Amino acid sequence: MFTPTRPAALRRLADFTPRAGRDYATLRNHDDMAHVSALSPYIRHRIITEEEVLRAVLTQHSPQAAEKFVQEVFWRGYWKGWLEQRPALWADYRRDLGAALNAVQTQAGLRQRWQAACLGQTGIDGFDHWARQLVDTGYLHNHARMWFASIWIHTLDLPWVLGADFFLRHLLDGDPASNTLSWRWVGGIQTLGKAYLAQPDNIAKYTQGRFRPEGLAQVAATLPCPPHPDRGALPASGVIDPAKRSGLIITEEDLSPDWLLDQVTPVATAFVRTTAWRSPLQVAPMVTDFVAAAMRDCQDRYAGQLGQVSVISVDALPAWRRAAGLDQVVMAYPPVGPTADALRSVDALRMLRAYDLDAWPHATHGFFRFKDAIPKLLGRIKGLALL
Ligand SMILES: Cc1cc2nc3c(=O)[nH]c(=O)nc-3n(C[C@H](O)[C@H](O)[C@H](O)COP(=O)(O)OP(=O)(O)OC[C@H]3O[C@@H](n4cnc5c(N)ncnc54)[C@H](O)[C@@H]3O)c2cc1C
Repeated sequence: MFTPTRPAALRRLADFTPRAGRDYATLRNHDDMAHVSALSPYIRHRIITEEEVLRAVLTQHSPQAAEKFVQEVFWRGYWKGWLEQRPALWADYRRDLGAALNAVQTQAGLRQRWQAACLGQTGIDGFDHWARQLVDTGYLHNHARMWFASIWIHTLDLPWVLGADFFLRHLLDGDPASNTLSWRWVGGIQTLGKAYLAQPDNIAKYTQGRFRPEGLAQVAATLPCPPHPDRGALPASGVIDPAKRSGLIITEEDLSPDWLLDQVTPVATAFVRTTAWRSPLQVAPMVTDFVAAAMRDCQDRYAGQLGQVSVISVDALPAWRRAAGLDQVVMAYPPVGPTADALRSVDALRMLRAYDLDAWPHATHGFFRFKDAIPKLLGRIKGLALL
């Protein structure tokens, strides 16, 4: 379903753009890929960027007609900026996940329920289908993700961190911020006290009657709900010295390095994959293959601009730097999550895209407040200011 190349992403964007206006606003909640863009695996890895998507859509639709779609695109940046200012929540998630995976090893009942949920063998209408769909395709519609997470947490009474991990291992768009914070939201610990409860009628309506599960929880589970950590400072972007002998690190967080290549001419480039860091368990081969192929596509697209290219592990970076005699190493800033964890000790300038620098400071409270900044943020996107 998802060819891991930029031309495939651009084709999908072109096919979808005519539907990004009122069609999307009215039909997007139906669990049917025909009504959404299915661009997330590409945007997640910046095979295409949010800016490109917004530009394409707003060239064909007025901001009013495309308002809903534009907002959805900004949800990604909102979640990223929100987590970036509260990185402890990612560390807490990883810690609680470790504990939950230990509990799975030692508690046979929990293990059986977790396995049944992951294998789609719970007997719950819809839920089992979505579990298998996720494993088979690497994608779920947003509404299905909400229903699935809700049933996982509130009906099956499984730890939310295990569900978030199941998603991160299988989603082609698996993203630390969108995933962790959406699961927290469904569990009622993101928007404090407001959980999401899946309702059979809603599921029947938006699946065209394909599913109407019975026996779903009527009351949300009460999860431990400490207050959000205090907001920390956002990172600053590195400052490149173009005169220095430079190397470039490309990770799966940003596979469109044009903006870096405008600032630096690398003599060597290292492609470093960090997909395995998404989970303590094995990440689905479909996901690792997607990322590996998308990286090869990136390598091909920028051939001739990257200097000597190596595909190496994180551990090999110091030797790579020495061998190439680099005075400076540059990379796109890896947001809070597995890639940042994997590259924590790597000495490199972490560069922020203008889009993130502009959007993240607005992710202080809820999305409703962030939304007010969208017109201003659109005005700062190159090529959009004139629309
Ligand atoms: C429990 C749960 C887990 C999720 N986990 C992830 C995840 O790991 N990775 C991920 O990318 N998204 C995640 N989402 C958000 C959302 O479901 C997907 O981004 C969306 O379904 C992708 O499909 P699409 O490209 O067809 O979206 P469209 O509806 O076509 O939206 C266009 C783009 O807007 C962005 N977007 C849309 N909705 C959201 C949203 N709610 N949050 C953040 N960005 C959004 C995406 O970049 C998407 O490609 C999760 C949602 C829930 C409820």
